[in-house]
Amino acid sequence: MLVVACIKQVPDTTQVQIDPVTNTLVREGIPFIVNPYDTHALEESLRLKDRFGFRVAAMSMGPPNAEATLKKALALGVDEAILLSDRVFGGADTLATSNVLSAAIRKLNAEEEVGIVFCGKQTIDGDTAQVGPGIATRLGYTQLTLVDRIEDLDPVKRTIKVRRKLEGRHEIVEAPLPVMITVVRELNRPRYPTVPMRLESQDAEVKVWNNDALKLDVNTCGLKGSPTWVSRIFSPEREKGEIIGDGVHEPEKTAELLIDKLLSKDLLAL
Ligand SMILES: Cc1cc2nc3c(=O)[nH]c(=O)nc-3n(C[C@H](O)[C@H](O)[C@H](O)COP(=O)(O)OP(=O)(O)OC[C@H]3O[C@@H](n4cnc5c(N)ncnc54)[C@H](O)[C@@H]3O)c2cc1C
Repeated sequence: MLVVACIKQVPDTTQVQIDPVTNTLVREGIPFIVNPYDTHALEESLRLKDRFGFRVAAMSMGPPNAEATLKKALALGVDEAILLSDRVFGGADTLATSNVLSAAIRKLNAEEEVGIVFCGKQTIDGDTAQVGPGIATRLGYTQLTLVDRIEDLDPVKRTIKVRRKLEGRHEIVEAPLPVMITVVRELNRPRYPTVPMRLESQDAEVKVWNNDALKLDVNTCGLKGSPTWVSRIFSPEREKGEIIGDGVHEPEKTAELLIDKLLSKDLLAL
């Protein structure tokens, strides 16, 4: 069985610049890292490899320099690394990204059965959390989002049981394979690459698939396949905080003032 980990290269900062004309990220001159949630997706794939002997493929869609991200995955022990890179894939929104990633997973599945696709919960740049579910929908896989523990996996019965981290509670879900799982940080602690693995990965091959390999209709990928229209991106102005009363000398009176204020703004109900 093949396990696929989808990993995205993201800018190593939350202070990304936005091109005011195109409303897309300005990526020049910014150092890149593997999206933090995706490091946990990668780690869980490798744990399943260690436990069950599954093969692991790391996959990323991005520009040619995203190869560095996949080299990191090779240094950690994935069996193959595939970069989906083509000019026609550029400018993709989450719909077009899901289209390209799922087409590539389908191509892998034609050679070797893909049982599990791991994605991060979300990225730290796009932040939408739509790509994982988008892949599951296109592939017809069961989607298990926000997973913080794999409770059980039975490769013979072809079932998986996971724990989902929801607001204030957990949910245990069992599903038949194949599945698409999005992971949260609590799932595991990612391993570090060993020095020999890191050196070996320098010569390891990252396969590059362009649209000649995927043969997608160009109207379903990249900018052409992206119906999302970003009219404006901006950082909201933060209003300065208001000092209410004298909390040091008159804490009770100040608390009353605060409660009145919250009541007047309908932010509190008694
Ligand atoms: C109109 C528009 C134009 C855009 N133009 C560009 C552009 O020109 N260049 C550009 O780089 N981005 C562009 N983007 C951003 C692009 O849509 C997102 O980077 C991409 O679709 C992934 O969405 P996300 O970051 O919200 O991922 P999320 O849905 O938050 O990611 C969830 C998980 O999906 C997986 N995943 C997501 N993206 C990838 C990927 N590329 N490869 C592998 N796994 C992945 C990861 O496991 C990730 O943790 C544009 C977005 C819009 C709306």
